[in-house]
Amino acid sequence: MQGLMMDYQLTLDRILEHAYRMFPHKQISTKLPDGSMHRYTYAQFYGRVKRLANVLRSLDVQTGDRVGTFAWNNYQHLELYYAAPGCSAVCHTLNIRLSPDQLAWIINHAEDKVVFVDGTLLPLFERIAPHLRTVQHYVLFNAERGLETKLPNVLFYEELMAEAGEAFDWTVTDERTAMGLCYTSGTTGDPKGVLYSHRSMFLHTYGENQASALGLIEEDVVMPVVPMFHAMAWGLPYSCTMAGADIVFPGSHMNAAALADLIAEEKVSVAAGVPTIWNALYHELKSNPRDVSHVRSLVVGGAAMPRALIEGYEKELGVNVVHAWGMTEMSPLGTVSKLQRHHRDLPDHEKWDIKARQGYPIAGVEMRIVNLEGEELPWDGATMGELQVRGPWIAKGYYKVESNRDAITADGWFRTGDVVTISPDGYMYITDRTKDLVKSGGEWISSVALENTLMAHPRVMEAAVIAIPDENWGERPLAVVVPTKDAGELSEDELRAHLAQHFARFQIPDRFLIIAEIPKTSVGKFDKKVLRHRHAKGELV
Ligand code: ADP
Repeated sequence: MQGLMMDYQLTLDRILEHAYRMFPHKQISTKLPDGSMHRYTYAQFYGRVKRLANVLRSLDVQTGDRVGTFAWNNYQHLELYYAAPGCSAVCHTLNIRLSPDQLAWIINHAEDKVVFVDGTLLPLFERIAPHLRTVQHYVLFNAERGLETKLPNVLFYEELMAEAGEAFDWTVTDERTAMGLCYTSGTTGDPKGVLYSHRSMFLHTYGENQASALGLIEEDVVMPVVPMFHAMAWGLPYSCTMAGADIVFPGSHMNAAALADLIAEEKVSVAAGVPTIWNALYHELKSNPRDVSHVRSLVVGGAAMPRALIEGYEKELGVNVVHAWGMTEMSPLGTVSKLQRHHRDLPDHEKWDIKARQGYPIAGVEMRIVNLEGEELPWDGATMGELQVRGPWIAKGYYKVESNRDAITADGWFRTGDVVTISPDGYMYITDRTKDLVKSGGEWISSVALENTLMAHPRVMEAAVIAIPDENWGERPLAVVVPTKDAGELSEDELRAHLAQHFARFQIPDRFLIIAEIPKTSVGKFDKKVLRHRHAKGELV
């Protein structure tokens, strides 16, 4: 039709060009394996992305080919995030914490043509390589020639970069071209591939940068602690560059003390990670204070952020916590829990209650809750149902999976597998993942709510609740608790009394087991699959 808008393709090279034009002097800093800092500007980054695109071409990477990355969060990984899509290939981020078997399966399933390997992870990767069927080249960074390796056809990143030219014309002309591939971390089942397009990631980047979402700006110093293999580091590599923010990558230095140092030294204003990481950081900051006054948003997602931890950060450390929810299948951002004007005069404890929810949908994401019959349920803050979503950055199926009937409803909504309530003002609260709910005597018990309250106990460091089979009730909750270091004796009675203030009798676990550590998944969530398995084998007694 005449007079309509331009047909402008939403391809990621547009974000990079904008960043180069507008913010050439902004900084990307990485903590290197030896502990020193690597720093360069957006302008230097831009030149290297173009070189890398030429390198990919020289390795015969063609449109649609999958380029694997096996790496920590660092500048080379960011270069791959732009170079692979820039030459119409797919950046396939590999989760370094999966088992060699799982990784071999994923790489073969994705048919990666080239894999870029962080030299610091070489011994891990060498165990996988013999099982790979499609990879033609391995390219190592943070590694130099002379290094001994069992990998065949090894090339060295910096050597290839030195030989490559800096002139490259981006090749993507269609925004529906695939740009990224990420397998879910498999918390509740086998890993499944999610394939993002330029258009979906571009729109996700706009969505994430809305002020009511993460709203990154040029003034920010952003530290993505969430790994670049966990749902594309929650889109931060693209939203940071679009905003022109400085970026700080922790590399392999992921312990709480190192992260606390980086936050203080680099004056980080936005940091993003899972609750496990922020729990450890909180305890580190309490025992060994650092200057965290520049942090305006501590973004947390991937699992429920315990309310007590939100309170601890805000009350004791003056750090604003932004709780967000998403899924690999959603690129990943879905909801954000920020306060609105009508919350302004609430007492603090009510504000923290709101922040402990997963929050409202960011514009672009539609939500609904349904019962087992698929009927829509009201947003009344009490009725529980399965959360379903749709939007331009939500998967319509899994990579190379023919039937997605389990994942997508007949009328085109994505089934999240999360059981939630939604308040009348649109704040979603996750009561559980479908597979983690405890179904006891016909009633549902939320393991998340029990965990949250247990972790509010001052002498509890971590707590997980799983369903265990029970002859009378079908299932009963079992609590597994890790005390804080200086907790001393922590008795069952004390924990039971603590829960009794908030829960009905039937909801309180019959047993509380004290253990040294809760097993974690590859992205740092409580691994309830492992706990259930251990219990079934009689190991959890
Ligand atoms: P995996 O499915 O392997 O765990 P994802 O990270 O994509 O990998 O998992 C998405 C799921 O993580 C969501 O469906 C939800 O159950 C959980 N999740 C993500 N963010 C939150 C949050 N803020 N609170 C509670 N659960 C969350």
